[in-house]
Amino acid sequence: MPDPSRRHPRNAPGPWFVDLTCVSCDTCTDISPEIFGRDEARKAYVRAHVPAEFDLFRFALESCPVEAVGDEGG
Ligand code: SF4
Repeated sequence: MPDPSRRHPRNAPGPWFVDLTCVSCDTCTDISPEIFGRDEARKAYVRAHVPAEFDLFRFALESCPVEAVGDEGG
């Protein structure tokens, strides 16, 4: 379960986030490079909230193998 208290420090402010349990599998960043960025260790974070890509965000959230992608908005 994504843990908002362990958010990646680079997450953009807002409800969408990636926590520090990310295992750098690249799934979310492949699904939406506009929403998800990668740090130097290839850990993902939310680079930008893109409302038009909400469905892609939810797909990435459901596809993350370690449930590191969270949505505090719902
Ligand atoms: S899908 Fe999950 S484990 Fe894979 S890069 Fe994204 S946050 Fe990390």
